[in-house]
Amino acid sequence: MILVLKPQTPAEEIEKLSKRIESKGLSTNISRGAETTVVGIIGDKTVLDIDQLKANPVVEKVIPVTESYKLANRKFHPKDSGFSVGNSWIGPGSFTIMAGPCAIESHDQLFTIAESVKKAGATLLRGGAYKPRTSPYSFQGLEEEGLIIMKEAGAAFDIPTICEVTSRHALEAAVKYVDMLQIGARNMQNFELLKEVGKCGLPVMLKRGLAATIDEWLNAAEYICANGNEKVCLCERGIRTYETATRNTLDISAVLVLKEKTHLPVIVDPSHATGVRSFIKPLTKAAAAIDADGVMIEVHNNPEAALSDGPQSLTLPQFEECVQEVGPYLELVNRKI
Ligand code: PEP
Ligand code: MN
Repeated sequence: MILVLKPQTPAEEIEKLSKRIESKGLSTNISRGAETTVVGIIGDKTVLDIDQLKANPVVEKVIPVTESYKLANRKFHPKDSGFSVGNSWIGPGSFTIMAGPCAIESHDQLFTIAESVKKAGATLLRGGAYKPRTSPYSFQGLEEEGLIIMKEAGAAFDIPTICEVTSRHALEAAVKYVDMLQIGARNMQNFELLKEVGKCGLPVMLKRGLAATIDEWLNAAEYICANGNEKVCLCERGIRTYETATRNTLDISAVLVLKEKTHLPVIVDPSHATGVRSFIKPLTKAAAAIDADGVMIEVHNNPEAALSDGPQSLTLPQFEECVQEVGPYLELVNRKI
């Protein structure tokens, strides 16, 4: 960590500050310029309170040189990580395809979709039972009844399942029925929920918050890891920008930034990123081409009648075509579905 001091800070103030830092077992390296003095701090910085340093009247700026996330940080874990979910592997060598409806609507609906997406090549079945809808009057999900249908569909078609949890109550129910949990964009910084999810032991996909920076996102992942669960992957699902042509703006370069900063697998969700059905297949190919670890795609047997996110849902034949066409892109990056 580097402290830039205010111009003309008196020598005795610099001395006082460095003594204070050294009293915590750290060492300091002071470099005096004509106007400005810079203090380098060496050692375990977790013993320092950054806000206290910022509040010090002689300190102009605090510049961290290492990130606050450790377990999720590639610096401390250079190799890509991965984990199993049922019979599926998320991570190196694999391209995970999570597919299914936005919301579980009925037994027939989920069974029809599950059978078809599994046959087409999906490796995880997705479906929401607790829906974080923008309007309180929109369909809110079947809750535990939906989870029961999810478990039955997963067993019937031999495919692991992933469901979003939006609260501690939803989490307590979901752990009984599903193989993997999703934390949605709206809860990315619900730290109490992240801690609980960390303790529950099931693999987790953490979606990017609506306007979260990559650093905030990785710190949120750290909450899960620090609570005992390192089976975490990240999902880029678009961010809020000034652009209104698509539902959100897919930050495709976030995949590359994440690959530098973290060892955790990275999934792309072109469905929520764009909200446009015709963009899903090309963006799935883009995700494969830049070596993402997989995609999450919304699929519905009858999108016109879907209770949520119909306009962005692929039909069953469109999903099959999408999986077939992504094949050559996966060969280029040495991954397999
Ligand atoms: C979802 O995957 O169903 C969902 C609500 O996504 P997001 O949290 O990315 O909006
Ligand atoms: Mn959706």
